[in-house]
Amino acid sequence: METILNYINGRLTAPCNGLHLKVYNPALGKVYAEAPDSDEEDMQIAIDAAKKAFPIWSTMAIEKRHDYLMVIAKKITENLEDLALAESIDNGKPLALAKAVDIPRASSNFSFFANAITQFSSESHEMNGQAINYTLRKPLGVVGCISPWNLPLYLFTWKIAPALAAGNTVVAKPSEVTPMTAFLLSKICIEAGLPAGVLNIVHGQGDKTAAVLSTHPNIKAISFTGSTLVGGKIAAKAAPLFKKISLEMGGKNPNIIFADCDYEKMLATTVRSSFSNQGQICLCGSRILVEKSIYEKFKRDFVKRTKGLKVGNPLHEDTNVGAIVSKPHYEKIKRYIDLAQQEGGTILCGGNAVQPDGFEDGWYVEPTIIEGLNMNCRTNQEEIFGPVVTLMPFESDEEALDLANESTYGLATTIWTQNINRAHLLASKVEAGIIWVNTWLIRDLRTPFGGMKNSGVGREGGLEALRFFTEPKNICIDYSK
Ligand code: NAD
Repeated sequence: METILNYINGRLTAPCNGLHLKVYNPALGKVYAEAPDSDEEDMQIAIDAAKKAFPIWSTMAIEKRHDYLMVIAKKITENLEDLALAESIDNGKPLALAKAVDIPRASSNFSFFANAITQFSSESHEMNGQAINYTLRKPLGVVGCISPWNLPLYLFTWKIAPALAAGNTVVAKPSEVTPMTAFLLSKICIEAGLPAGVLNIVHGQGDKTAAVLSTHPNIKAISFTGSTLVGGKIAAKAAPLFKKISLEMGGKNPNIIFADCDYEKMLATTVRSSFSNQGQICLCGSRILVEKSIYEKFKRDFVKRTKGLKVGNPLHEDTNVGAIVSKPHYEKIKRYIDLAQQEGGTILCGGNAVQPDGFEDGWYVEPTIIEGLNMNCRTNQEEIFGPVVTLMPFESDEEALDLANESTYGLATTIWTQNINRAHLLASKVEAGIIWVNTWLIRDLRTPFGGMKNSGVGREGGLEALRFFTEPKNICIDYSK
């Protein structure tokens, strides 16, 4: 059984208290590794190490910082096969998905921000004949990065890379449910020669480790991705201490499908946007709104395609749907399927746990499609974060917009139409931070990424991330006579 270690002050270390958490392979439902159950003491050592490293890292020539980050990016790519396998075993996601999406993106997070910082500039504002102002953007100091289990290395590096590129030192806390690739990243950072203390990775339960970041006086900012519940806890503690916070939280995203869409493209993409990564992507569409004139046809075709998805061994190339990440999450999804039926929903497809041959103890749920529910029921209002979607017809653009916006969440929306006016108008009115028209999950790392309402505070991506991780200072020089 593999033992995961913390990465603190440039070294791999066991937690001070000697305690460990079990790490499960969800495909088999079995423990396969152990990870540190760290606490405040480890966090304090990590924060001290990061504080000590800050003067060196923050004043290092940008080209040199760029070089370190590029070496890490390159090493992630060189280790793609091993990292993808580790991600699949740890998370239950199809290996093919980890190879095509998770690990390549982790590498490009580093290369993107390594390059972005070399092009980062700030503004100047001239006051005619009197003065000139220029803005300096300085790294903040030690920052905290907290990430979830659904895209483990992808989201972990999405935070760490801009924080480091901007000159901050980092204490990072990966999800305790999927700690393996963060551990492998620490080995890569050691191989890359990253100076001690620049990046520290502390494993453990959120309440005992990451929570320390919200109240510690030496933590200047927190970048968090995870549930709205935990995001709220972080905000409640960090806001009175005036820390900068960026919160990427839950979603309950609508897909709005009009009769005039490119039907084949829409159908294939809607299957993906519903069930990729077992529906455990914050950007998955889980409330599918369909124009009434094509509702029955869509329902038939969507159910047929979904029934064709292969649920099973994540390591098989032809598997479409792997295992659910953990037993508690698997139980939660099953409870929501029961709830949907109690609320009057009809299951059109799926609805059951599955035990693929040879994986009888693993945690698998069939891709599930439900109809017949109102928008205000719990099934349609609460985030399930699994392979479960609902269908609902609409008759007009106004009704589609009302249904889409009838949610406390506002992360992403997908609109399917060939009518350009309708696309622009709806995109401007829908309450979401990310809107895709006639596509899903195309990502340009330069664009602002984040949600509205209970889905988020602040934006990640491109300049937004570099601005978040720096403090602007205005310098005014009077040149009048
Ligand atoms: P979670 O909120 O339970 O945990 C996320 C991280 O927060 C973990 O590392 C956890 O240990 C830590 N944590 C727990 N308690 C904490 C505390 N008191 N203080 C500080 N940190 C604490 O989320 P999860 O179950 O790991 O992930 C699923 C959630 O993440 C879903 O709600 C999903 O929508 C969301 N998510 C959002 C985005 C986005 O970009 N908006 C992306 C991916 C996932």
